[in-house]
Order: sequence, then C-alpha cells, then structure tokens
Amino acid sequence: MSVLQVFTFPHPVLTQEAKPVARFDSELKQLADNMLETMYAEGGIGLAANQVGQLKRLIVVDLRNEDQEELAKPRPERHREPRIFVNPSLLDASGETVTEEACLSVVDFTAEVKRAQRIVVGYQTLAGEAREETLEDLAAVCLQHEMDHLAGKLFIDHLPPLKRQIVKRRLAKIAKLAKSA
Ligand SMILES: [Zn+2]
Repeated sequence: MSVLQVFTFPHPVLTQEAKPVARFDSELKQLADNMLETMYAEGGIGLAANQVGQLKRLIVVDLRNEDQEELAKPRPERHREPRIFVNPSLLDASGETVTEEACLSVVDFTAEVKRAQRIVVGYQTLAGEAREETLEDLAAVCLQHEMDHLAGKLFIDHLPPLKRQIVKRRLAKIAKLAKSA
C-alpha cells in the first residue's frame, strides 16, 4: 500500500466528473487500498478518487478516523472501519442537517454546509456486487460530500455566490503563494 498525492484546490481534476467503474479487477482493489492508506495518513474521514487524480466513481470512508480517542491509541490498537463505495448513486434523501465541513483538498478552510440528514445510497462492492444502504447524520453528510467530488464539486460550491467567490479567490492566492515559496 502506498500514500498517494492529494490534489488541492484549484487543481482542475477536482472540477471534473468521475466516470463509472466498469472493471472490478486487482487494479481497482489496489487503488481503493492506496486511497484508504492516504486517508488515514492525512487524517480524513472520506476520500474520493478525484482527489488523488483518478476520475473513477470510487469513494473510501472511515468515520472512526475522526474519533480523537481512537486516534490517540497506538496505531496497531486502532480499530478501523474502512468502507468502500464503487459507483455510488443517491436513491433517496430526506431531512436537513448543518455540519462544519472540511476537505483534504481545501487547505485550512471550514464552513457550515446544509445537507440531507438521511440518504439511501446504491453502490457496488469491490467485487461488483450491488448494494443498497441507508445512512444518517455524519455518515450521510460524508457520503454526500464525497459524491459531490465525483461530480466535480467541492463543499465550498455550497456557499452563497458572493462568499464562494471571495473564498475561492483567497484559496487560489494561498495556493499560488505556496507554489512559489
Ligand atoms: Zn472533500
């Protein structure tokens, strides 16, 4: 397993739409393993393939990666709950919840985002088996955030237009400075 590079705003790969996965082979399994390793290394609770430069409808999630008590344990004792969603699609959404969101691809910025509190998601496993699952609260929010990535959208795209413009301009400036430093 290896840790992959996470692309950050304003990299164009983050604004592109991911394509459905058609081949459920060892290459896909390896990409999912590497994405999990990358997510653990970066301390995120979810990662979409776009973020590592792969336009594939593939998401990895581990909600426990946010649990501070869990993170304080030595690595071998940590209890991980990795989840993998291939070709996820939103089948139903209801309720409303507001969460302070962050993103491994949006450096040093968080914002409150309103999303559905409960979703039903259809997806495939790494073996290509079709599944359906109901998710609530943080799990639902995380999946919606990651599915946005697959559509080429970031959580900052949910901000009101003026604020979004200001934030994007500021983030682009910071990225440019970081590059030239
Ligand atoms: Zn993200």
